[in-house]
Amino acid sequence: MAERLQKVMAQAGVASRRASEQLILDGKVTVNGKTIHELGTKVEPSDKIEVSGEPIDSREKLVYFLLNKPRGVVTTNSDDKGRATVMDIVDEPERVYPVGRLDYDTTGVLLLTNDGELANKLMHPRYRIDKVYVAKVKGIPTNEELEKLRHGVTVKTKQNGRYTTFNAAPARAEIQSTNTKNHTAIVKLTIHEGKYHQVKEMMKAVGHEVLKLTRERYGMLDLTGLTPGEYRPLRYEEVQALK
Ligand code: URA
Repeated sequence: MAERLQKVMAQAGVASRRASEQLILDGKVTVNGKTIHELGTKVEPSDKIEVSGEPIDSREKLVYFLLNKPRGVVTTNSDDKGRATVMDIVDEPERVYPVGRLDYDTTGVLLLTNDGELANKLMHPRYRIDKVYVAKVKGIPTNEELEKLRHGVTVKTKQNGRYTTFNAAPARAEIQSTNTKNHTAIVKLTIHEGKYHQVKEMMKAVGHEVLKLTRERYGMLDLTGLTPGEYRPLRYEEVQALK
């Protein structure tokens, strides 16, 4: 089926659709050796697309997996310290990538796909998808502290290697249970962004260290039926709902 060139490029993970259009306008894209300048150009599956002289692997079947990430694995394709990665668990013929990150010691919902366009979209701040975390924290947060979390706390997060101050808000925050003997609490936090260490930094901002963290839900995707380390393909309707 013929499809628009920028759509095929975005699906292949070259860049977002807008950025792919710019690459076309900049004369960086060829189809069967001919430079394309028209944004409306349609391409067939058999066409050979190159971006800056590099062929794109555009016609791989798009696949989507939901992993219950266990503790002790990193969310990257390879780790320079030789630690296990989520890619060691998701053993599929297609080259999939995690959508966003979970920390080494965080468990829970992690989406993996080779659909670069959807991944870019989901990670864009404009796409305010609910991310529900359950954190075991040191100490028992007061109502005032929960209220602060809901209204936004200023935290420092690392983005592209730089620390930036960021107002983490709004969030839903509630206590699920408390353990007065150990002086710990289970806090459920819903956020929309996905900054580096965001939940840990938010809890730290109100004086509570996170001892354990799980992402229970990502949009409508939850961990039903998956123990840590297990994964499953997304159902057609689940993919459509994310798009
Ligand atoms: N916030 C964190 O602090 N860690 C995660 O892994 C995810 C969200």
